[in-house]
Amino acid sequence: MNKLYLVVPCYNEQEVLPETSKRLLKKVSDLIVENRISPESRIVFVDDGSKDDTWNIIEGLHGQNPVFQGIKLSRNKGHQNALLAGLMTVKEHCDTAISLDADLQDDTDAIDEMLLRYEEGCEVVYGVRSSRKTDSFFKKSTALLFYKLMSCMGVETVYNHADYRLMSKRALESMEKFSEVNLFLRGIVPLIGFKSTTVSYKREKRFAGESKYPLKKMLSFAWDGITSFSVKPIKMISFVGALSLFAGICMLLTLFVLFLCGREFGDKIFYTALACAFFGFQFLSTGIVGEYIGKTYMESKHRPRYIIETYLK
Ligand code: UDP
Ligand code: MG
Repeated sequence: MNKLYLVVPCYNEQEVLPETSKRLLKKVSDLIVENRISPESRIVFVDDGSKDDTWNIIEGLHGQNPVFQGIKLSRNKGHQNALLAGLMTVKEHCDTAISLDADLQDDTDAIDEMLLRYEEGCEVVYGVRSSRKTDSFFKKSTALLFYKLMSCMGVETVYNHADYRLMSKRALESMEKFSEVNLFLRGIVPLIGFKSTTVSYKREKRFAGESKYPLKKMLSFAWDGITSFSVKPIKMISFVGALSLFAGICMLLTLFVLFLCGREFGDKIFYTALACAFFGFQFLSTGIVGEYIGKTYMESKHRPRYIIETYLK
């Protein structure tokens, strides 16, 4: 039977953990009673170097009930790394793993539907927010901008999906082959492939405590997402350079023809044309060098070139 592991990254979550553990325990117990998951299923909290009582609470929960497990990172490494640490640790023991936030913003009832989709053969099930009513205007608009920017940059992500998702053991094992250090799991998971689907859920308000993603962390997360998956910014430099060089050359040629026809023109227009061509050339050269660096960068990630889904022997 499906051994399900719930993986919950926690950073300074002492206010929410007592309630989160209660709700997750109820969910897992119900699913066990309904024979949907194995009695050996577990709830794993990953303490991402918290400075509050988070780890003590996790230890306490583990002492009370072996269904709760804990992983403590040596220091704060950020949400994505904490999540990866949890998923890579449990993949040895589970059949499926579901990652979800500690603050109960991800509706735990969506787990039932995720399991149904898994039983139908999906190896990755993305939790997608059906509405963002509970998010602030700022959060909503920055998130929209983020998804739009990602798609402009050619990065494949699932719209309105955070890191609430089910992954099969096989999908987790494939994820391990992505050995990159600058982690952006939302970009990596679609690259894995396999049959996948989405399940929508209503995003709740944070149960207690405050967001661990202040603006600075959010911006660096978005920047990581773009620069780890796209070399389009470099291509844009080349494009602007080529455009400017082309405009500069056209202007210079026009001025040359005017000169041959004996027509007068001011110095200013000549210098503008020269600057346009010169800076265009500079930009284009930088862009070309950038293209090579971009290729080296992508190579350095050593991403798997393919993942075999089936081999009929
Ligand atoms: N988190 C983490 N390490 C960090 C920041 C956040 O493990 O450095 C966890 C946090 O405890 C929560 C999840 O990541 O379980 C999402 O964070 P949060 O709810 O604060 O983000 P938001 O929902 O505001 O985007
Ligand atoms: Mg949250």
